[in-house]
Amino acid sequence: MLQLSSMSLKYQRVLLKLSGEQLAGKFDSGIDPALCAWLAEEVKKITDAGGQVVIMVGGGNFVRGAQIAGHGIRRVTGDHMGMLATLINALGLTDIFEANGIETRCLSSIFAEQVAEPFVHRLAQKHLESGRVVIAAGGIGRPYLTTDTAAVSLALELDCQAVLKATKVDGVYDKDPAKHKDAIKHDSVSFQNAVENPDIAVMDKAAMGLAMEYKMPIIVFDAMEAGKLLKVVEGQDIGTTIS
Ligand code: UDP
Repeated sequence: MLQLSSMSLKYQRVLLKLSGEQLAGKFDSGIDPALCAWLAEEVKKITDAGGQVVIMVGGGNFVRGAQIAGHGIRRVTGDHMGMLATLINALGLTDIFEANGIETRCLSSIFAEQVAEPFVHRLAQKHLESGRVVIAAGGIGRPYLTTDTAAVSLALELDCQAVLKATKVDGVYDKDPAKHKDAIKHDSVSFQNAVENPDIAVMDKAAMGLAMEYKMPIIVFDAMEAGKLLKVVEGQDIGTTIS
């Protein structure tokens, strides 16, 4: 079924970046299925409203290349392990989304034909236009990158109108709100500031630089509050917009 664009949504097609840590929820590692099912409900609110959603999943709940490298494991191998971790998350999330009534396809940027469709640009476009959620596995498929950078790159490739970066806090603060009670939240931040200010570490600088170069807005928000994701896509003032 081909979807018509929705009048109620500011962003018709968005890329949602979910880190591995978020998928782990209350656990130290692995996937929290109940939380992922809750996330599926949140994403369904967007697709029900006619929006199109691409999800880039991280893998930090299992492996991060930079952290595991050393003591005999090469950085490149560590990054391969990290990309495989994102595939584990993407496969689990795809099943949970489908179990919750959302048509979903897992497309992998690393060779994994036995378990996922390969990421092919036209295929991804087709799935999105048909109203399916696309879950991207394997980041961008190359080492020395993170899924944040892959998220911005994929958002550009698939003509998304914004990258929604789900975090534990509800936006970008002038200092760490977990450590400082008087931390002030910014409603908006310029790309220049986000790239140059070392205190703004919500996404890695490579991701931020790419977003700045191609003017891809990034909205940083707390996705764990019911209805917030839809509100962001509707264009309500939630979190912090980096643009
Ligand atoms: N990774 C990579 N290339 C990519 C995306 C990811 O090599 O295009 C590897 C990298 O080692 C990274 C790991 O996969 O640390 C997991 O991704 P990330 O750290 O971004 O996960 P998150 O912190 O979002 O859970």
